[in-house]
Amino acid sequence: MTALPDIAGCVEARTARSTGLPVLLIDLRGEGAWAGTEEEGRWLTLCDTHGGLLQHSTRQDARGWMAAPEDWCPECMPAQ
Ligand SMILES: [Zn+2]
Repeated sequence: MTALPDIAGCVEARTARSTGLPVLLIDLRGEGAWAGTEEEGRWLTLCDTHGGLLQHSTRQDARGWMAAPEDWCPECMPAQ
């Protein structure tokens, strides 16, 4: 298991097979300051290398996106 980085709310870290780069799953509610609803996007996927991110309403949804950062991180996207 990959050690979790010292980021508030980070609940999971995984290396995306497609890019070989670490992707983090963050529970925004764990930040303390966030008081939005699940629908507004409680879960955040973050490309640890580039800082690209995407918000999701469910953890299951967010975990699905962790495998493909090239779909949501501008820097991971293959050159057109
Ligand atoms: Zn990236």
